[in-house]
Amino acid sequence: MFDLIVKGGTLPDGTRADIGITGDRIAAVDNLDTAAAGRVIDATGDLVSPPFVDPHFHMDATLSYGTPRINASGTLLEGIALWGELKEIVTIDDMVARGLEYCDWAASMGLLAIRSHVDTCDDRLLGVQAMLELREKVRDYIDLQLVAFPQDGVFRDPTAMDNTIRALDMGVDVVGGIPHFERTMADGARSVTALCEIAAQRGLMVDMHCDETDDPMSRHIETLAYETRRLGLQGRVVGSHLTSMHSMDNYYVSKLLPLIAEAQVAAIPNPLINIMLQGRHDSFPKRRGLTRVREMQAAGIDVGWGQDCVLDPWYSLGTADMLDVAFMGLHVAQMSAPDEMRRCFDMVTETNARIIGVRDYGLRVGATASLVVLDAGNPIEALRLRATRLCVVARGKVIAETPRAVAQLSLPGSPGRPGRLRRRHPAHNG
Ligand SMILES: [Zn+2]
Repeated sequence: MFDLIVKGGTLPDGTRADIGITGDRIAAVDNLDTAAAGRVIDATGDLVSPPFVDPHFHMDATLSYGTPRINASGTLLEGIALWGELKEIVTIDDMVARGLEYCDWAASMGLLAIRSHVDTCDDRLLGVQAMLELREKVRDYIDLQLVAFPQDGVFRDPTAMDNTIRALDMGVDVVGGIPHFERTMADGARSVTALCEIAAQRGLMVDMHCDETDDPMSRHIETLAYETRRLGLQGRVVGSHLTSMHSMDNYYVSKLLPLIAEAQVAAIPNPLINIMLQGRHDSFPKRRGLTRVREMQAAGIDVGWGQDCVLDPWYSLGTADMLDVAFMGLHVAQMSAPDEMRRCFDMVTETNARIIGVRDYGLRVGATASLVVLDAGNPIEALRLRATRLCVVARGKVIAETPRAVAQLSLPGSPGRPGRLRRRHPAHNG
């Protein structure tokens, strides 16, 4: 007797299996035709996936679009300035309320683990207090991991280092940084060293906003990989964005990629934001502003897709849909081969979970009973349709259900044809 069975679904690897859930754990992944359960969800013909994971987000800024004004130039730098204005007027309650609303969106989209950078350049640390409160409020359905992020530069801002350390003392999980925003290249490199040393002393992970610029000489990823090896942080460090690598000299990159791979530093590009913010100083041809995703993967580097922003000073759209993120990444990185498209789905599930260290993740016996049923036959179709999340299960409980989107056609000259339409297609099955 299970509490819940998700029946007849297709897993991302193409196998068909029923999933039996007891309490908050997956108890069986098998043929459960004869088993009884408190509730059975029929997933016949649908894709059953582990939950989506967003490894890069800014929860303290989300859903603030237009407050106090919009980003007119569309650049990263105006976004940072605008966030500075917003920080002056924002309250803890406001940030918690916006974060809670966003987490509702995320729950409805099967996005159940989020790594969020929280700004530590505020002597009152309002954002940190708000996000710690939010982390508690959503802990039964969303794993919210927090990164201490000195948005204005840990050296550029006079109190940022102290505040970042205070944030870690208060329970923020990961050490962040923004070396390309420090005043000089030397300060940027120094900030990487100092912040990695703090992480090593405290046994924490590192996730830096790194080289989010079109400047090919922004090479802080080199220092980040070097310090990772020097301090024995392999497997615990992420370089987020890495957009400057798009513009770097090819010879230099051929030397850089093995260093990143040997340091086991993972990469998190954020395709919606990168394609929107980068290249703004170019005329034509205009650079794509996305890092070298396929090339890094070919070199053995873990690469996930991050969302970064939804309705905030940097980005005016967004729906908490990691399939949107992967869809954009697939296009900009030209990952059109079938195995590359499937990999794009894996990047927003398994790969992201591995990179940020989501515990007990996956569709296997003993794992946390969190999953999502999608109105799609396979991962590629899920991407093509940005498929409806028919059912979302978090820790053994059904937390969201959305009706299947079915159009009813009444075409002139074609009576009775085809009637109900779902836009599913067998193209990528098997
Ligand atoms: Zn970011």
